[in-house]
Amino acid sequence: MRAVVFDSVGGPLEVRDVPEPGCPPDGVVLDVRATGVCRSDWHAWRGHDPVALPHVPGHEFAGVVARVGADVTSWRPGDRVTAPFVCGCGVCAYCGAGDPQVCPGQTQPGFTHHGSFAEQVLVRAADFNLVRLPGSMSFVAAAGLGCRVATAYRALTAHGRLAAGEWLAVHGCGGVGLSAVLLGTHSVPASWPSMCRRRHRSWPANAGPRRSSTPPLRATSRP
Ligand SMILES: [Zn+2]
Ligand SMILES: [Zn+2]
Repeated sequence: MRAVVFDSVGGPLEVRDVPEPGCPPDGVVLDVRATGVCRSDWHAWRGHDPVALPHVPGHEFAGVVARVGADVTSWRPGDRVTAPFVCGCGVCAYCGAGDPQVCPGQTQPGFTHHGSFAEQVLVRAADFNLVRLPGSMSFVAAAGLGCRVATAYRALTAHGRLAAGEWLAVHGCGGVGLSAVLLGTHSVPASWPSMCRRRHRSWPANAGPRRSSTPPLRATSRP
């Protein structure tokens, strides 16, 4: 398959043929349909976040399931999916508590293994990590959700506890900052909080969104 590769820290990025990713029993290989470019990719390229070389970056992606590991029960070829920036192991206490971003066995396409600047990418612990895309959502829109939008969403809701009618100040409008502005100035679908919390608990990963009693954020945009 074709992929973007760098062979040295800070070295040139080259598009060339590389082997397709293998598919472990708990993993899924996706055909990448869209991928974002993130500051975190730059950190890996510059050596701030060490990766094995040669390396294929890319961790903000959406695509179609191409191959499914023998132990995966929730996904089949053809499913449209995305995944979070940090993929948990799915079995440890942190993952069970809904905190896979601090899972000691976490994996990150584009860091712990080759990423999505390629025709295919591997997602490990696929039953735990993959999120099904609604039919109305484009791959391009979905590719941004797992990293920048999810980070901004948690910052506004879990940490900032932004409520309707409040002012929101965002300092630094990169990917995360622009996502925070987007979320803070538009209603958030009520299903989002439900999906974020329940994905790591009882709500089946392949069951799709459902309505939540959590009130949506409301527009607070002001001149
Ligand atoms: Zn990112
Ligand atoms: Zn874990």
